[in-house]
Amino acid sequence: MKIKETLQKATRGTRFLHRQAYRRLGLWHLHKQLDISMALMLLLCIVTFPILMKCSFKKIPTGIEPDTEISEEQSEDEPTSITEEEDVHEDLDNVPVEKELHVSLNELEKRVQLGELDMEMRSLQKGESLISVLSQEKVPTGERMDIVESLELLINLKSLKPGMNMMLFKEKGSLVGLSLAIKEGETVSVLKESDGTWTPFSHTGRVETKTIRWEGSVDRTFSGSAQKAGVPENLVSQIINALDGEIDFSTDIKSAATFDIIAEYKETEGGLEIGSKQLVYVGLSNGKTELHKYAYTPKNGTSGFYDAKGRSVSKQIMKRPLKGKSRVSSPFGVRFHPILRYKIFHKGVDLAAPMNTPIVAAADGKIDLLGRKGGYGKYISIVHAGGWKTAYAHMNGYRKDLKVGSYVKRGEVIGYVGSTGRSTGPHLHFEVLKNKQAVAPHGNNVIQGNQLIGFALEQFQSWAETIHPDFKQHLAGKIPPVPMPKPF
Ligand SMILES: [Zn+2]
Repeated sequence: MKIKETLQKATRGTRFLHRQAYRRLGLWHLHKQLDISMALMLLLCIVTFPILMKCSFKKIPTGIEPDTEISEEQSEDEPTSITEEEDVHEDLDNVPVEKELHVSLNELEKRVQLGELDMEMRSLQKGESLISVLSQEKVPTGERMDIVESLELLINLKSLKPGMNMMLFKEKGSLVGLSLAIKEGETVSVLKESDGTWTPFSHTGRVETKTIRWEGSVDRTFSGSAQKAGVPENLVSQIINALDGEIDFSTDIKSAATFDIIAEYKETEGGLEIGSKQLVYVGLSNGKTELHKYAYTPKNGTSGFYDAKGRSVSKQIMKRPLKGKSRVSSPFGVRFHPILRYKIFHKGVDLAAPMNTPIVAAADGKIDLLGRKGGYGKYISIVHAGGWKTAYAHMNGYRKDLKVGSYVKRGEVIGYVGSTGRSTGPHLHFEVLKNKQAVAPHGNNVIQGNQLIGFALEQFQSWAETIHPDFKQHLAGKIPPVPMPKPF
């Protein structure tokens, strides 16, 4: 497989260079004729080479001595001719074409500051490819292939994920450069040269962590108002998934309740955002109840929403970890097999749902198994805090970027409903285990929160103090109401 991939990459590379060479020489319209004549010349060379070799071998004994003498004499006698040659080379270096063929990202960024170019930031949407972005930008078809082939010399474009950020440079509305944030501190770009060709290059630079804060009040629903204020949709659903149970978003957080949300993100020197925004703080208040939660991952601990005193939220394991409607097609527990006429124990619950319904993680945790497992078919199991574990079977497929060791959050998609393994139709077989014992998935299975103590608590609190200016107040708790003055 590896060899095949490298071969494919190499052919792509040569094709790209071949095309670019013709473009630079301005001979693209003649490329077919030139290819044929070059092939014929190569053939001629191959045919005549052995004949020439034979001839030269015959001449060697007589020719060797005088030849070397002459060349030595020439180099000693005529030093001026060498300097002349050097001059010629300098001239070649100064050929204008060479000079123009060197755009750089810095140069583009400078031109943006001067107002000569426009710069647009956008992120890759779900189901979008680089090609579709380019066609939206009205890049001519031929150039689209040039851009894709250039980038493919540096990265595998199939690895681009939704949410990945890109920077588009435009001159009078048409694209002249594109940068992609691959990972922390690394971007790849393709920039258009003055002759219309596209040059790829990668850039490694400094990355800064920045914070962004959204404050507002709820008008009808929390999720609608938060998104209106600019909070990304995935952060809103992360907040609801993490805090529901602690607070009821439909009854407690209504009109006039306020929210205060802080997230962190990484940015390159050029202002390109890398990855997605990470929640660090959520504050909710409705006059009666106040909630101040810090999204934190202790060293060697599970990530969670911690209050100022270092307590994390207790979380119920989801009973039906599916995005969409489902029906219990086989319950948990002992069941009597109608045909075989014996009792069997069903370790989980079967939830019948349409093919490819998204399956989500029932609680925060770490994937410890991902792959085929006998009759279970395509299978994932997740380890949670407090000796809890959940398992998901008969999946049609897994979310692309997941692997053993990946951390997932409650409510985050992990795969899709299928019918792999021993299964008669599309359904999710879902198991919940406590200390390796299967328990009823529809029961009240709560993962107890964590209390940070000692040094871990100190570490958390000194971090939290840098996140929110009112941390001290959050630690002191709600300020008690001022008592009414006693009548004299
Ligand atoms: Zn089952």
